[in-house]
Parts: sequence; C-alpha cells; structure tokens
Amino acid sequence: MTDNPPSLTAPITEIFSSVQGEGPCVGARQLFVRFYGCHRRCAFCDSPETVTAWQPPGYQPPRCRVEQTPGRRDFIEMPNPLPVETLLDWIRALDRQFGPHHAVSLTGGEPLLYPDYLRALLPRIEHFGLKTYLETAGDLYTQLDALLPWLDFAAMDIKLPSVTLNEAAWGGHRKFLARCVENEVDVFAKAVVSADTDPADLDAACAVIRDVAPQTMLILQPMTPFGEARRAPAPHQLLDWQARCLAHIPNVRVIPQTHKMMNQL
Ligand code: SF4
Repeated sequence: MTDNPPSLTAPITEIFSSVQGEGPCVGARQLFVRFYGCHRRCAFCDSPETVTAWQPPGYQPPRCRVEQTPGRRDFIEMPNPLPVETLLDWIRALDRQFGPHHAVSLTGGEPLLYPDYLRALLPRIEHFGLKTYLETAGDLYTQLDALLPWLDFAAMDIKLPSVTLNEAAWGGHRKFLARCVENEVDVFAKAVVSADTDPADLDAACAVIRDVAPQTMLILQPMTPFGEARRAPAPHQLLDWQARCLAHIPNVRVIPQTHKMMNQL
C-alpha cells in the first residue's frame, strides 16, 4: 500500500542492473535509476543527454528505457514522466530477477532535482530490504535534508572549476558533507581530474574535507575522454596529486571509471 499521490512523477532516462563502476564500491552489483536533468554543466559530463542546459527549454525526455537483461541492451521503453509506483514495480521486478543488489543507485543527471519524488521513493526502497546509494554533484544540500533518514550511501562530487569549466561550489560541498556525516550516511567524495587540473582546486577540495570530516575518503577519478573533454591526466600527474592531497587528508585514492573499461552502461 502507498500514501503517495498518484501524480508524483519524475523524468527518468534509464533503469538497469549492472556493477558500480566508480569509487570504493566498485564492482558491487547495483540497480541503477538515472534521472533526467542537471543544474550543472561539467565539461566532461558523460551523460550530456541528462543536462538541462544542453536541451531545449522545458524539454523532458519522452521515454524511459529499461534494460530487460543485464548487459544485453535489450531495452523496452515507457512514457515519461514516470510515476513512483511504476518505478518501484521495476525496482522490485529487476531485483527479484537479477539481485541481490548491493543498493539502488540513484544517479543522473542530478537526482536531487526531485526531492519530493525521492522522499516518496526512498522509504519504499528500504521497505523492500534494499539500500539506497545517491550519486550527486554534492551541492544541493537543502534538497538533501528530507532524504537523510533513508539514505545509506552518498557518492558526492567535489567539482573542480579548472576541470568542469563551471563555477565552484565549495560552500555547498561543505554543507552537503556536514549533513551526511551528522546523519551517519556512508559518504565519500569524488573529484574528477583532467590534465588541466589546477592544484589549487585540489587544495580547496581537501580543505572542504579536512574542515568537516577529515577521515572522509577522497577519490581522484581521472577524466574518461568523452566528447570535447579529451585531456585525461598523465600517470605522473595523478600520483603527484594524490601525494599532494595526502599532505592534507589521510584517505585519498585514485580510481578510474571501471564500467567504461568493460563497455557497460
Ligand atoms: S553534475 Fe554530473 S550529470 Fe551534471 S553536468 Fe556534471 S557530470 Fe553531468
């Protein structure tokens, strides 16, 4: 049974079962729900179809695709926007058929553009016995508040302006991380780095972590060349930057996007 209003919907681009390709949970089997829409415009974005600024005004994707068999690209399509109940039916069906899943990954785009939808969704996912894993730009901290009781994991980006070619959000990242830590969400931070990374940006990212929760893991994720963002960092740069960050905070790892290596979604 549900007390969700039937009109509660959100634009979703795809739903599929796969492995987590980033961060400390790399390789874990997860069920992915990719939301349409993002308030940022990272130069390296590998989901440009979800970025609001790069679509016509008022655009929403007309259809959401669901992969029927993991890894086979045998999609069926459903009309958008997707009601919460329809999404829950898919989550339950895919988990029964292809689980157990480590968690349901809410990714995008930026899922936090739909806080009311998530507020209805997350308790129901928990009711299924599944954990929730939020992949986010890590700056929409007020939208995060209503979800915190049901959030198990948060993969929060720290956006480096020399890499995103977009404005910084240091204050937003600070507040976002503080809320996760105060509410005992298992959180880590991820900074995508390119050959053009300004080391001062890395120092600022480390300062966010050091000032809020110094034990938080920082992942340096080398940019996967995509579109016009092609300047991946050299090995010596990655090792130099890891050492630089370790001078500020104790838990810094270099992990590339592994799902791209296996040509997975
Ligand atoms: S925050 Fe994520 S989805 Fe949004 S533009 Fe940046 S990389 Fe793309």
